[in-house]
Amino acid sequence: MKTFPMFLTMTDRRVVIVGGGEQAAQKCRLILKTDAQVEVLAQSLDAELQDLADRGRITWTATSITAAHFADTALVFVATGCPGMDAALHALAKCAGATVNVVDQPELCDAITPSIVDRDPVVVAIGTEGTAPVLARQIKTKVEDMLEPRLGDLAALAGRLRSFAAQRLSPRMRRDLWRWVFNGPVRAQHQAGAEQHAARMLKDAIATGEFSEAAPAPVALVGAGPGSSDLITLRGVKRLQEADVIFYDRLIDPQVLELARRDARRVYVGKAPGCHSWPQDKINAVLVAAALAGERVVRLKCGDPGIFARGAEEADALKAVGVTYEIVPGVTAASGAAAATGGFLTERGRNDTLVLTTGQTAEDNATPDWMHFLQKRSRVVVYMGVSAAPQIEARLRADGLAALVDVQIVANAQRPDQKIETCRADELTASLERAGITSPAILTLMLRDEPVSMRGHLQAV
Ligand code: SAH
Repeated sequence: MKTFPMFLTMTDRRVVIVGGGEQAAQKCRLILKTDAQVEVLAQSLDAELQDLADRGRITWTATSITAAHFADTALVFVATGCPGMDAALHALAKCAGATVNVVDQPELCDAITPSIVDRDPVVVAIGTEGTAPVLARQIKTKVEDMLEPRLGDLAALAGRLRSFAAQRLSPRMRRDLWRWVFNGPVRAQHQAGAEQHAARMLKDAIATGEFSEAAPAPVALVGAGPGSSDLITLRGVKRLQEADVIFYDRLIDPQVLELARRDARRVYVGKAPGCHSWPQDKINAVLVAAALAGERVVRLKCGDPGIFARGAEEADALKAVGVTYEIVPGVTAASGAAAATGGFLTERGRNDTLVLTTGQTAEDNATPDWMHFLQKRSRVVVYMGVSAAPQIEARLRADGLAALVDVQIVANAQRPDQKIETCRADELTASLERAGITSPAILTLMLRDEPVSMRGHLQAV
C-alpha cells in the first residue's frame, strides 16, 4: 500500500480550504459533513461559498496568505484552480507542517480523499491510489446497495446503548446481542421504517438479557480453495465473517484469514514442516469444545472440505455430541491445477472418466488401486503424490506402463509460486527432483494414445 486508510478525528479541528470557486466548494461540501471548523482562504467567493459564509457554516479570510494560516490544521485543501498558484500554496502549507491535498495534483498530496459511502456514523472509504477511479465508483455503487439508507441511525442507536449494555451483559452476551441486532429482527424492523419498535426491542433485550438466535449455528466446514484468496466462495467468506473462532490448516493462504472478523480467534491446527503436528483426535476435540461452548466455529480447509480433508472424521465427532455441521464447498486442488494449465478435467469424447485419488492412504501405503482406472479416455489425479512418487513410478514400471503414461505436475497451483511440469511416468521422480518440486502438488496421469497393437496389453492391466 502506498497510502494507508485512517479515519481522522475532526471534532473542533481546523480544516483550511484555499480557493473560492467550484473546486473549493466541492471540498467544502465534503468537509462540512464532519464536525471540523472550515476556514476558506480566498480573495472572493462564489455564490455557494458566500452563502455558507453568510450562514456562519464556514469562516472566510481574504487577507494575503502566510504559512501561519496553515498552522495547527487537521487538513489543508488547495483548490484555487491555478496549478502554479496551487504549487506555491502547497509549499507554504508544508512550511507550517500541514497535511495537504492539492486538487488534481496527486504528486503534491500527502492525503487523498477516498470515495465515500456515508451512513454516518458508519462510513466506508474506498481508494484505489488513483489507479482506477471507475472501479472505485463501481465498488461504491455495490456498497451503497448493501447498506440500507437508515443503517447509520441504527448504528448510532447502538452506540448510545453501548454503556447500558456494558452494565447489564457479559462481554460474550454483548457480542451475541450485537450480532442478533445487526443480523436479525431489530435491523429488519429498523430497515422497514419501524424505528421506534426496533429501539424498544433492543432496549428490552439489553434490560432482560433475553434475545435468542433461533438455534446454535452449525459448525461450518469451509473450503478455502487451492490458494489465492479470491478462490474462496462468497458463502465461505460469509461464514468466516460470522465466526468467533477459525481452526485452519497449513495450506491456507494468510490473505484468506484476513477475510475474517478482526477479533475472531484464529487457531492453527496444521502441520508445519519440522513442527509438531496436530493429531486428528485433538482437532476433533477442539472443534467439539468450541461448538459446545456456543462459539461460532469455522473449520477452514484448503481446497474442498470433502476431498482428502478428513472432513468426515470431524463431522462424525460433531454428530456424536449432537452438534450440527454445514459443508461449504471449495475449489479443489484438481480444479485449480487444471485451470492453471489451461486444461480441462474432462473433455467430451476424449476424456470421460475422472478419478481423484491420493498418494497417502490411511494404511499409509501408496498401493495404486487406481491403476485399474488408468485407461484410455480417463484421467487419474493424484493428491499428496509427491512423496509417493517413487512408489507410483515403480508400480507403473512393474506393470510395463511407465513409458506410456504422461504425468502433468502442478505445484502450488493458483499461488504466486505455481510451477507446471510434464514428463513421462518413468521420469517422474527425476523430474520432481530436477524441478525442485515439493508438496503441495497435483499429479495428473493419462495413458497416452498408442497404436492398436498395445490394446491387448493395456486391457490386461
Ligand atoms: N481438500 C484439499 C486437498 C487436501 S490434501 C482439496 O480439495 O484440494 C493436500 C493435497 O492437496 C496436497 O498434498 C496437494 O496434493 C493438494 N493441494 C492442495 N493445494 C494445492 C495447490 N495449491 N496446488 C497443488 N496441489 C495442492
